[in-house]
Amino acid sequence: MPWLAGFPREKLGWYPTIDPSKCVKCGMCMNCGKNVYDWTKNGAVVARPYACVPGCTTCATLCLGDAITFPPASYIREVYKKEGIWSKVKKVLEEEGKLMVKISE
Ligand code: SF4
Ligand code: SF4
Repeated sequence: MPWLAGFPREKLGWYPTIDPSKCVKCGMCMNCGKNVYDWTKNGAVVARPYACVPGCTTCATLCLGDAITFPPASYIREVYKKEGIWSKVKKVLEEEGKLMVKISE
């Protein structure tokens, strides 16, 4: 999925941070479909931060201990604006046929 449309993932500082003092080891973050976390005897750790989907915050939303944080949305929006990522993503989506109207009203 073209979330970045070629912009280098490592240049986007979007990934979760865990406060170990708040983690209650509920395991919910291990549901991440991008395999960002590893499970240790001390609970979850962020093992592959750049596998995190840009803009996603699902694990933080469902973290039982409210232990996971992300940068503010304004950060990622500013990068998208500065780097012209929105228009690049739209171009890729058009090329992939994902913005074709399938249902006529
Ligand atoms: S924000 Fe989404 S992609 Fe990123 S680690 Fe959490 S669940 Fe996974
Ligand atoms: S979801 Fe939150 S509380 Fe649960 S294991 Fe992960 S970091 Fe810890």
